[in-house]
Amino acid sequence: MSSHQTSPITRSVRRGIASDLQHGAVVPPVYLSSMFAYENLDRKRVHDYTRDSNPTRGDLEAALADLEGGRGAVVTSSGTSALLLALQLVEPRGLVVAPFDCYGGTRRLLTALAQRGHFEVDFRDLTATQPLEDLPRAPAVVWVETPSNPLLRITDIRKLAAEAHAQGALVIADNTVLSPALQQPLSLGVDVVVHSTTKYLNGHSDVVGGCVVAADEDVLQKLQFWARCLGITGAPFDSYLTLRGLRTLFPRMAAHVRNAQAVAIALSSHEAVERVYYPGLPSHPGHEIAALQQSAFGALLSFELRGGAESVRCFVEHLHCFTLAKSLGGVESLIAHPATMSHAHMPPEMRAATGITDSLVRLSVGIESIVDLVHDLRQALDQVLRVADKETRGSLHTEVG
Ligand SMILES: *Cc1c(COP(=O)(O)O)cnc(C)c1O
Repeated sequence: MSSHQTSPITRSVRRGIASDLQHGAVVPPVYLSSMFAYENLDRKRVHDYTRDSNPTRGDLEAALADLEGGRGAVVTSSGTSALLLALQLVEPRGLVVAPFDCYGGTRRLLTALAQRGHFEVDFRDLTATQPLEDLPRAPAVVWVETPSNPLLRITDIRKLAAEAHAQGALVIADNTVLSPALQQPLSLGVDVVVHSTTKYLNGHSDVVGGCVVAADEDVLQKLQFWARCLGITGAPFDSYLTLRGLRTLFPRMAAHVRNAQAVAIALSSHEAVERVYYPGLPSHPGHEIAALQQSAFGALLSFELRGGAESVRCFVEHLHCFTLAKSLGGVESLIAHPATMSHAHMPPEMRAATGITDSLVRLSVGIESIVDLVHDLRQALDQVLRVADKETRGSLHTEVG
Protein backbone atom coordinates (compact mmCIF):
# COMPACT_ATOMS: atom_id res chain seq x y z
CA MET A 1 0.00 0.00 0.00
CA SER A 2 1.24 3.49 -0.83
CA SER A 3 1.73 5.89 2.08
CA HIS A 4 1.59 8.89 -0.26
CA GLN A 5 -0.63 11.65 1.17
CA THR A 6 -2.39 13.61 -1.58
CA SER A 7 -2.12 17.40 -1.58
CA PRO A 8 -5.07 19.59 -0.52
CA ILE A 9 -5.04 20.89 -4.11
CA THR A 10 -5.77 17.40 -5.43
CA ARG A 11 -8.31 16.71 -2.70
CA SER A 12 -10.22 19.93 -3.36
CA VAL A 13 -10.38 19.14 -7.10
CA ARG A 14 -11.43 15.51 -6.61
CA ARG A 15 -13.85 15.78 -3.67
CA GLY A 16 -16.76 13.37 -4.36
CA ILE A 17 -15.62 12.69 -7.94
CA ALA A 18 -16.82 9.26 -9.21
CA SER A 19 -18.56 8.50 -5.92
CA ASP A 20 -22.02 7.90 -7.42
CA LEU A 21 -22.74 4.20 -7.31
CA GLN A 22 -26.15 4.25 -8.98
CA HIS A 23 -25.27 5.78 -12.37
CA GLY A 24 -21.55 6.33 -12.19
CA ALA A 25 -21.99 10.12 -12.50
CA VAL A 26 -18.46 11.52 -12.44
CA VAL A 27 -19.57 14.74 -10.72
CA PRO A 28 -21.62 14.05 -7.58
CA PRO A 29 -25.30 14.90 -8.18
CA VAL A 30 -27.09 17.58 -6.17
CA TYR A 31 -29.68 16.22 -3.73
CA LEU A 32 -32.37 18.88 -3.54
CA SER A 33 -34.85 16.66 -1.69
CA SER A 34 -36.03 18.13 1.60
CA MET A 35 -36.48 14.65 3.11
CA PHE A 36 -35.26 11.08 2.76
CA ALA A 37 -37.44 7.99 3.18
CA TYR A 38 -36.91 5.62 6.09
CA GLU A 39 -35.92 2.12 4.99
CA ASN A 40 -38.70 0.79 7.24
CA LEU A 41 -40.27 1.62 10.60
CA ASP A 42 -37.21 0.44 12.49
CA ARG A 43 -34.50 1.83 10.26
CA LYS A 44 -33.78 5.33 9.12
CA ARG A 45 -31.05 6.10 6.60
CA VAL A 46 -28.04 8.39 7.09
CA HIS A 47 -30.13 11.45 6.19
CA ASP A 48 -33.78 12.05 6.98
CA TYR A 49 -34.47 15.81 6.77
CA THR A 50 -32.41 18.41 4.89
CA ARG A 51 -32.40 21.07 7.61
CA ASP A 52 -30.52 18.54 9.79
CA SER A 53 -28.31 16.91 7.18
CA ASN A 54 -28.10 16.50 3.42
CA PRO A 55 -25.67 14.54 1.20
CA THR A 56 -24.66 17.55 -0.94
CA ARG A 57 -24.13 19.84 2.03
CA GLY A 58 -22.30 16.97 3.74
CA ASP A 59 -19.82 16.76 0.84
CA LEU A 60 -19.10 20.48 1.15
CA GLU A 61 -18.74 20.23 4.93
CA ALA A 62 -16.23 17.41 4.57
CA ALA A 63 -14.27 19.38 1.96
CA LEU A 64 -14.11 22.54 4.11
CA ALA A 65 -13.15 20.66 7.29
CA ASP A 66 -10.41 18.93 5.32
CA LEU A 67 -9.02 22.20 3.89
CA GLU A 68 -8.97 23.92 7.31
CA GLY A 69 -7.58 20.82 9.04
CA GLY A 70 -10.62 20.58 11.37
CA ARG A 71 -12.62 17.74 12.89
CA GLY A 72 -15.75 18.77 11.01
CA ALA A 73 -17.75 21.69 9.64
CA VAL A 74 -21.28 23.05 9.52
CA VAL A 75 -22.34 24.83 6.33
CA THR A 76 -24.70 27.75 6.96
CA SER A 77 -27.01 29.91 4.87
CA SER A 78 -24.66 32.94 4.95
CA GLY A 79 -21.40 34.11 6.48
CA THR A 80 -23.48 36.08 8.95
CA SER A 81 -25.36 32.97 10.09
CA ALA A 82 -21.96 31.29 10.51
CA LEU A 83 -21.03 34.11 12.91
CA LEU A 84 -24.34 33.67 14.74
CA LEU A 85 -23.72 29.93 14.99
CA ALA A 86 -20.19 30.33 16.31
CA LEU A 87 -21.46 32.81 18.92
CA GLN A 88 -23.71 30.09 20.38
CA LEU A 89 -20.47 28.79 21.91
CA VAL A 90 -20.47 31.76 24.31
CA GLU A 91 -22.13 30.91 27.62
CA PRO A 92 -24.73 33.46 28.85
CA ARG A 93 -23.09 36.68 30.10
CA GLY A 94 -19.63 35.55 28.94
CA LEU A 95 -17.16 38.15 27.72
CA VAL A 96 -16.40 38.32 23.99
CA VAL A 97 -13.25 40.19 22.97
CA ALA A 98 -13.23 41.30 19.33
CA PRO A 99 -11.11 43.58 17.12
CA PHE A 100 -12.42 47.16 16.96
CA ASP A 101 -12.05 47.04 13.17
CA CYS A 102 -13.71 43.66 12.55
CA TYR A 103 -16.08 43.16 9.61
CA GLY A 104 -19.02 45.59 9.89
CA GLY A 105 -21.64 42.82 10.07
CA THR A 106 -19.68 41.12 12.86
CA ARG A 107 -19.56 44.36 14.83
CA ARG A 108 -23.28 44.92 14.30
CA LEU A 109 -24.19 41.36 15.40
CA LEU A 110 -21.92 41.42 18.47
CA THR A 111 -23.26 44.82 19.52
CA ALA A 112 -26.92 43.88 18.99
CA LEU A 113 -26.63 40.56 20.88
CA ALA A 114 -24.71 42.25 23.70
CA GLN A 115 -27.45 44.91 23.97
CA ARG A 116 -29.94 42.08 24.38
CA GLY A 117 -27.89 40.74 27.28
CA HIS A 118 -26.65 37.56 25.55
CA PHE A 119 -23.06 38.39 26.47
CA GLU A 120 -20.72 41.30 27.02
CA VAL A 121 -18.46 42.56 24.24
CA ASP A 122 -15.14 44.40 24.45
CA PHE A 123 -13.79 45.84 21.17
CA ARG A 124 -10.07 46.55 21.16
CA ASP A 125 -6.92 46.57 19.07
CA LEU A 126 -5.80 42.93 18.92
CA THR A 127 -2.65 43.87 17.00
CA ALA A 128 -1.34 45.63 20.16
CA THR A 129 1.69 44.23 22.04
CA GLN A 130 -0.44 43.20 25.05
CA PRO A 131 -3.82 42.70 23.38
CA LEU A 132 -5.59 41.02 26.34
CA GLU A 133 -4.24 43.20 29.12
CA ASP A 134 -6.60 44.94 31.58
CA LEU A 135 -9.76 43.05 30.63
CA PRO A 136 -12.58 43.46 33.17
CA ARG A 137 -12.59 39.64 33.61
CA ALA A 138 -11.46 36.45 31.89
CA PRO A 139 -12.84 36.31 28.32
CA ALA A 140 -15.08 33.44 27.15
CA VAL A 141 -14.23 34.02 23.49
CA VAL A 142 -11.51 35.91 21.65
CA TRP A 143 -12.48 36.76 18.07
CA VAL A 144 -9.73 37.27 15.52
CA GLU A 145 -9.92 38.52 11.95
CA THR A 146 -6.69 38.93 10.02
CA PRO A 147 -5.98 40.61 7.65
CA SER A 148 -8.56 43.21 8.63
CA ASN A 149 -10.79 44.90 6.14
CA PRO A 150 -10.27 47.46 4.56
CA LEU A 151 -6.85 48.41 6.04
CA LEU A 152 -5.29 44.91 5.97
CA ARG A 153 -3.95 45.12 9.52
CA ILE A 154 -2.29 41.87 10.58
CA THR A 155 -2.81 40.13 13.93
CA ASP A 156 -0.28 37.57 15.19
CA ILE A 157 -2.64 34.58 15.48
CA ARG A 158 -0.28 32.20 17.28
CA LYS A 159 0.58 34.75 19.96
CA LEU A 160 -3.01 35.90 20.47
CA ALA A 161 -4.32 32.31 20.65
CA ALA A 162 -1.72 31.37 23.28
CA GLU A 163 -2.62 34.41 25.41
CA ALA A 164 -6.35 33.77 25.04
CA HIS A 165 -5.93 30.11 26.02
CA ALA A 166 -3.88 31.12 29.05
CA GLN A 167 -6.99 33.04 30.19
CA GLY A 168 -9.27 30.08 29.44
CA ALA A 169 -10.91 31.54 26.33
CA LEU A 170 -12.05 29.82 23.15
CA VAL A 171 -10.49 31.39 20.04
CA ILE A 172 -12.59 31.94 16.92
CA ALA A 173 -11.01 33.19 13.66
CA ASP A 174 -12.81 34.68 10.66
CA ASN A 175 -10.66 33.41 7.78
CA THR A 176 -12.79 34.82 4.94
CA VAL A 177 -10.26 37.29 3.55
CA LEU A 178 -7.60 34.64 2.85
CA SER A 179 -9.38 31.25 2.58
CA PRO A 180 -7.73 28.05 3.80
CA ALA A 181 -5.57 28.05 0.68
CA LEU A 182 -3.53 30.94 2.15
CA GLN A 183 -3.98 30.64 5.93
CA GLN A 184 -5.05 27.83 8.28
CA PRO A 185 -5.81 29.33 11.69
CA LEU A 186 -6.42 25.93 13.35
CA SER A 187 -2.78 25.05 12.73
CA LEU A 188 -1.82 28.27 14.58
CA GLY A 189 -3.76 27.34 17.73
CA VAL A 190 -7.27 28.64 16.94
CA ASP A 191 -10.25 26.48 18.05
CA VAL A 192 -12.95 27.46 15.54
CA VAL A 193 -12.84 29.00 12.05
CA VAL A 194 -15.72 30.84 10.40
CA HIS A 195 -16.08 31.81 6.76
CA SER A 196 -18.30 33.72 4.49
CA THR A 197 -18.12 31.17 1.63
CA THR A 198 -19.77 33.94 -0.42
CA LYS A 199 -16.23 35.24 -1.01
CA TYR A 200 -13.19 33.21 -2.18
CA LEU A 201 -14.44 29.72 -1.29
CA ASN A 202 -17.28 29.87 -3.79
CA GLY A 203 -15.39 32.51 -5.73
CA HIS A 204 -17.91 33.27 -8.47
CA SER A 205 -20.20 35.79 -6.73
CA ASP A 206 -23.33 33.69 -7.24
CA VAL A 207 -23.92 32.20 -3.78
CA VAL A 208 -24.35 33.66 -0.30
CA GLY A 209 -23.17 31.11 2.25
CA GLY A 210 -20.98 30.41 5.23
CA CYS A 211 -19.40 27.72 7.36
CA VAL A 212 -18.02 27.05 10.81
CA VAL A 213 -15.15 24.58 11.21
CA ALA A 214 -14.29 23.09 14.61
CA ALA A 215 -10.95 21.67 15.70
CA ASP A 216 -12.51 19.14 18.04
CA GLU A 217 -15.46 16.84 18.42
CA ASP A 218 -17.34 18.31 21.37
CA VAL A 219 -17.32 21.82 19.87
CA LEU A 220 -18.45 20.33 16.56
CA GLN A 221 -21.38 18.60 18.26
CA LYS A 222 -22.47 21.83 19.92
CA LEU A 223 -22.33 23.59 16.55
CA GLN A 224 -24.34 20.83 14.87
CA PHE A 225 -26.96 20.99 17.63
CA TRP A 226 -27.32 24.79 17.36
CA ALA A 227 -27.37 24.78 13.55
CA ARG A 228 -30.33 22.40 13.64
CA CYS A 229 -31.95 24.22 16.51
CA LEU A 230 -31.75 27.64 14.83
CA GLY A 231 -32.45 26.26 11.34
CA ILE A 232 -29.57 28.11 9.67
CA THR A 233 -27.96 25.35 7.62
CA GLY A 234 -27.16 26.03 3.95
CA ALA A 235 -29.34 25.03 1.00
CA PRO A 236 -28.28 21.99 -1.11
CA PHE A 237 -28.06 23.88 -4.39
CA ASP A 238 -25.88 26.56 -2.79
CA SER A 239 -23.69 23.79 -1.38
CA TYR A 240 -23.42 22.23 -4.84
CA LEU A 241 -22.31 25.52 -6.40
CA THR A 242 -19.85 26.20 -3.57
CA LEU A 243 -18.36 22.72 -3.94
CA ARG A 244 -17.92 23.42 -7.65
CA GLY A 245 -16.20 26.72 -6.84
CA LEU A 246 -13.96 24.99 -4.32
CA ARG A 247 -12.53 22.67 -6.99
CA THR A 248 -10.59 25.61 -8.44
CA LEU A 249 -9.78 27.37 -5.13
CA PHE A 250 -6.01 26.88 -5.28
CA PRO A 251 -5.39 27.96 -8.90
CA ARG A 252 -7.82 30.87 -8.44
CA MET A 253 -6.04 32.06 -5.31
CA ALA A 254 -2.66 31.81 -7.03
CA ALA A 255 -3.95 33.99 -9.88
CA HIS A 256 -5.62 36.46 -7.47
CA VAL A 257 -2.40 36.85 -5.47
CA ARG A 258 -0.18 37.28 -8.56
CA ASN A 259 -2.45 40.02 -9.84
CA ALA A 260 -2.78 41.76 -6.47
CA GLN A 261 0.99 41.85 -6.05
CA ALA A 262 1.41 43.47 -9.48
CA VAL A 263 -1.41 45.93 -8.78
CA ALA A 264 0.14 46.93 -5.42
CA ILE A 265 3.46 47.67 -7.12
CA ALA A 266 1.84 49.62 -9.97
CA LEU A 267 -0.17 51.73 -7.50
CA SER A 268 2.84 52.40 -5.29
CA SER A 269 4.72 54.02 -8.15
CA HIS A 270 1.92 56.30 -9.37
CA GLU A 271 1.93 59.96 -8.43
CA ALA A 272 -1.84 60.07 -7.84
CA VAL A 273 -1.54 57.51 -5.04
CA GLU A 274 -0.73 58.73 -1.54
CA ARG A 275 -0.38 55.41 0.23
CA VAL A 276 -0.97 51.69 -0.41
CA TYR A 277 -2.12 49.15 2.20
CA TYR A 278 -1.06 45.66 1.12
CA PRO A 279 0.69 43.16 3.44
CA GLY A 280 2.82 41.96 0.52
CA LEU A 281 4.69 45.29 0.44
CA PRO A 282 7.78 45.19 2.70
CA SER A 283 6.79 48.67 3.97
CA HIS A 284 3.51 47.31 5.41
CA PRO A 285 3.70 47.11 9.24
CA GLY A 286 2.27 43.56 9.26
CA HIS A 287 4.49 42.27 6.44
CA GLU A 288 6.70 40.02 8.56
CA ILE A 289 3.93 38.40 10.61
CA ALA A 290 1.89 37.90 7.44
CA ALA A 291 4.89 36.20 5.82
CA LEU A 292 5.10 33.83 8.80
CA GLN A 293 1.47 32.85 9.20
CA GLN A 294 0.15 33.13 5.64
CA SER A 295 1.33 31.20 2.60
CA ALA A 296 0.73 34.30 0.40
CA PHE A 297 -0.35 37.90 0.88
CA GLY A 298 -3.90 37.72 -0.46
CA ALA A 299 -5.75 39.74 -3.08
CA LEU A 300 -7.47 42.45 -1.09
CA LEU A 301 -5.77 45.83 -0.90
CA SER A 302 -6.63 49.45 -0.32
CA PHE A 303 -5.03 52.79 -1.04
CA GLU A 304 -5.44 56.51 -0.59
CA LEU A 305 -5.79 58.78 -3.60
CA ARG A 306 -4.36 62.26 -3.76
CA GLY A 307 -7.15 64.81 -3.46
CA GLY A 308 -10.47 64.11 -1.80
CA ALA A 309 -13.93 62.96 -2.79
CA GLU A 310 -13.62 64.45 -6.31
CA SER A 311 -10.56 62.31 -7.02
CA VAL A 312 -12.42 59.18 -5.90
CA ARG A 313 -15.39 60.04 -8.11
CA CYS A 314 -13.14 60.66 -11.10
CA PHE A 315 -11.17 57.46 -10.51
CA VAL A 316 -14.23 55.23 -10.20
CA GLU A 317 -15.88 56.76 -13.26
CA HIS A 318 -12.86 56.13 -15.47
CA LEU A 319 -12.36 52.46 -14.58
CA HIS A 320 -13.52 49.77 -17.00
CA CYS A 321 -12.24 46.54 -15.41
CA PHE A 322 -13.26 47.21 -11.78
CA THR A 323 -16.94 47.12 -10.83
CA LEU A 324 -18.21 49.36 -8.05
CA ALA A 325 -19.63 46.83 -5.56
CA LYS A 326 -19.10 46.02 -1.92
CA SER A 327 -18.28 42.32 -1.80
CA LEU A 328 -14.94 40.61 -2.46
CA GLY A 329 -13.41 37.29 -3.43
CA GLY A 330 -15.00 36.68 -6.84
CA VAL A 331 -13.06 36.10 -10.06
CA GLU A 332 -14.05 39.61 -11.23
CA SER A 333 -12.24 42.72 -9.95
CA LEU A 334 -14.22 45.06 -7.71
CA ILE A 335 -13.69 48.50 -6.28
CA ALA A 336 -15.34 49.85 -3.13
CA HIS A 337 -15.33 53.18 -1.30
CA PRO A 338 -15.47 52.25 2.41
CA ALA A 339 -16.37 55.76 3.66
CA THR A 340 -19.65 55.85 1.69
CA MET A 341 -20.30 52.10 1.34
CA SER A 342 -19.26 49.53 4.00
CA HIS A 343 -18.47 52.09 6.72
CA ALA A 344 -21.09 54.75 5.93
CA HIS A 345 -22.96 53.99 9.18
CA MET A 346 -19.87 54.86 11.26
CA PRO A 347 -19.71 58.38 12.76
CA PRO A 348 -17.12 60.44 10.82
CA GLU A 349 -14.87 60.89 13.90
CA MET A 350 -14.71 57.15 14.37
CA ARG A 351 -13.97 56.61 10.68
CA ALA A 352 -11.12 59.12 10.94
CA ALA A 353 -9.80 57.42 14.10
CA THR A 354 -9.73 54.04 12.36
CA GLY A 355 -8.01 55.36 9.23
CA ILE A 356 -11.00 55.17 6.86
CA THR A 357 -10.54 58.47 5.09
CA ASP A 358 -12.71 59.82 2.28
CA SER A 359 -9.88 59.21 -0.19
CA LEU A 360 -9.48 55.52 0.73
CA VAL A 361 -10.54 52.98 -1.89
CA ARG A 362 -10.46 49.19 -1.64
CA LEU A 363 -9.82 46.74 -4.43
CA SER A 364 -10.74 43.08 -4.59
CA VAL A 365 -8.31 42.07 -7.32
CA GLY A 366 -9.78 39.47 -9.69
CA ILE A 367 -8.18 37.02 -12.08
CA GLU A 368 -8.49 39.00 -15.33
CA SER A 369 -5.35 39.67 -17.39
CA ILE A 370 -2.91 41.65 -15.27
CA VAL A 371 -1.95 43.70 -18.33
CA ASP A 372 -5.56 44.91 -18.60
CA LEU A 373 -5.93 45.56 -14.86
CA VAL A 374 -2.75 47.62 -14.58
CA HIS A 375 -3.50 49.51 -17.79
CA ASP A 376 -7.00 50.31 -16.52
CA LEU A 377 -5.78 51.55 -13.12
CA ARG A 378 -3.01 53.66 -14.68
CA GLN A 379 -5.27 55.46 -17.14
CA ALA A 380 -7.83 56.22 -14.40
CA LEU A 381 -5.05 57.46 -12.06
CA ASP A 382 -3.77 59.74 -14.83
CA GLN A 383 -7.26 61.27 -14.94
CA VAL A 384 -7.16 61.74 -11.16
CA LEU A 385 -3.89 63.66 -11.46
CA ARG A 386 -5.56 66.05 -13.89
CA VAL A 387 -8.44 66.65 -11.44
CA ALA A 388 -6.14 66.97 -8.42
CA ASP A 389 -3.91 69.45 -10.28
CA LYS A 390 -6.91 71.50 -11.33
CA GLU A 391 -8.11 71.57 -7.69
CA THR A 392 -4.69 72.75 -6.51
CA ARG A 393 -4.56 75.48 -9.18
CA GLY A 394 -8.15 76.44 -8.32
CA SER A 395 -7.33 76.90 -4.64
CA LEU A 396 -4.23 78.94 -5.53
CA HIS A 397 -6.43 81.24 -7.59
CA THR A 398 -8.87 81.70 -4.72
CA GLU A 399 -6.00 82.47 -2.38
CA VAL A 400 -4.64 85.08 -4.79
CA GLY A 401 -8.06 86.50 -5.68
C1 LIG B 1 -18.75 39.05 3.89
C2 LIG B 1 -18.15 38.76 5.20
C3 LIG B 1 -18.91 38.24 6.26
C4 LIG B 1 -20.42 38.04 6.16
O1 LIG B 1 -20.76 37.09 5.22
P1 LIG B 1 -22.13 37.08 4.38
O2 LIG B 1 -21.97 35.86 3.54
O3 LIG B 1 -22.18 38.35 3.61
O4 LIG B 1 -23.25 36.98 5.35
C5 LIG B 1 -18.26 37.96 7.44
N1 LIG B 1 -16.93 38.20 7.61
C6 LIG B 1 -16.18 38.71 6.61
C7 LIG B 1 -14.73 38.95 6.85
C8 LIG B 1 -16.75 39.01 5.38
O5 LIG B 1 -16.00 39.53 4.41
